[in-house]
Amino acid sequence: MYPDTQLLIDGAWSNSASGKTIAVVNPATEETIGQVAHAGIADLDRALAAADKGFQVWKKVSPYDRYKIMRKAADLLRARADDIGKIMTAEQGKPFIEAKGETLAGADVIDWFAEEARRAYGRIVPARAEGVYQLVMKEPVGPVAAFTPWNFPINQVVRKMSGALAAGCSIIVKGPEETPASCAALLQAFIDAGVPAGVIGLVYGVPSEISEYLIPSPIIKKVTFTGSTPVGKHLAMLAGQHMKRVTMELGGHAPAIVFEDADVESAIKMLAANKYRNAGQVCVSPTRFIVHEKHYERFVDGFTAAAKALKVGDGMDPATRMGPLANDRRLQAMDAFVGDAIAKGATLKTGGKRMGNKGYFYEPTVLTDVPMNARIMNEEPFGPVAPISSFRDFDAVVAEANRLPWGLAAYAYTKSAKTAAAIGAAIESGMVSINHHGLALPEVPFGGIKESGYGTEGGAEAIDAYLNTKFITQVGV
Ligand code: NAD
Repeated sequence: MYPDTQLLIDGAWSNSASGKTIAVVNPATEETIGQVAHAGIADLDRALAAADKGFQVWKKVSPYDRYKIMRKAADLLRARADDIGKIMTAEQGKPFIEAKGETLAGADVIDWFAEEARRAYGRIVPARAEGVYQLVMKEPVGPVAAFTPWNFPINQVVRKMSGALAAGCSIIVKGPEETPASCAALLQAFIDAGVPAGVIGLVYGVPSEISEYLIPSPIIKKVTFTGSTPVGKHLAMLAGQHMKRVTMELGGHAPAIVFEDADVESAIKMLAANKYRNAGQVCVSPTRFIVHEKHYERFVDGFTAAAKALKVGDGMDPATRMGPLANDRRLQAMDAFVGDAIAKGATLKTGGKRMGNKGYFYEPTVLTDVPMNARIMNEEPFGPVAPISSFRDFDAVVAEANRLPWGLAAYAYTKSAKTAAAIGAAIESGMVSINHHGLALPEVPFGGIKESGYGTEGGAEAIDAYLNTKFITQVGV
């Protein structure tokens, strides 16, 4: 039932010129379930030529017609969500309900950007002299190169593709080699909806080879990447050398603060659910739990109980709440984070090891008394490990929340409007969610500051990433 994945170039699916493929593994079973085509330079040259041609066609399609095609793609994606969800669970490991939910949410993203296509307004600036018209025009930036990771195989692609298509750009996606087929199913929905040949392309291979070839190409005018901060810095540098516009959605280390006046039971419930969603492999995952000393003991007990109660298993089992980690690199990373923290004096409340010896399952883990020099307090864990610490006063918790170089998401729980407003203002983060988990909807901004990157992939600002501003001044003769 799991399909092999080919390259999408110039409107047709094909093997790579070399015929090389990469194996795809089910992280719940460690079995090879399929193959993905491995692009070489000849394939990338074809993809670039197609994107160049596709741009010339798509930029002339009116926003109204782009909107209609995109809305159709969204409907097709919705209709196929069951099948695509199963494919995603097989290749990525997340529970089917999360995989199907991500597919349906992808359709909402397409709808949002389709509508924004029709609102990419310019403006008329009042002139200093009679008869002069000063026009601010928005034009598509050109062919886009997008690099997307394996943790949300549809969500990370659909934001970039929908923004680019709405603006009138063509796009080449370098998809995630470990989770290729659900991403391919997303592009198929656009093809079936009538996106012309060449407008969207999909390639896989060695990520560094592809980025180092596509980014410098004079055909590519815009680069967008989701992934780790070190890779993001490298790609931003490469883009800078060629003066390409860039959007970077990078890592995070989100503080989750529980204030003295918080509803602690609700905080435990929501934070535990969000910590272990997608086995913690989420850039906006709550990461450093910082709890007022009055509630510390209760929070640790409640959170640990929630972690212990979590049903871990194959994502296709309806009882499963947390699937395996997506690859064995994450298993090794979790062992290293936990081992390092314990060696430096942390207390293991629950979890801390791999489950069984087949599939990349890891126990939902809770650590306390973690010293500040432990790696997990300074590096993005990207997995199901939760370090919990306590605080006494507002200034101290703000200092801790802002200590790290990231600034993607932050969470706070308080019943006081004054504290909510104060923490919202004090925290250095692109997104702050207070008393609930309300991030990542298509209509609201999604993006980070500091080393979490720049640009937003949601809300009214998001389409700007794919538009140039042109000024025309004219006077009648
Ligand atoms: P990694 O850092 O090597 O790769 C991260 C992503 O970047 C992958 O999708 C990979 O294909 C891509 N990539 C790597 N080198 C590239 C290059 N030279 N050009 C283009 N793309 C490149 O490691 P990984 O093991 O895949 O992931 C580990 C870390 O990545 C995690 O700890 C997490 O911090 C980060 N990550 C973040 C997100 C996110 O949503 N922000 C998603 C996945 C991974």
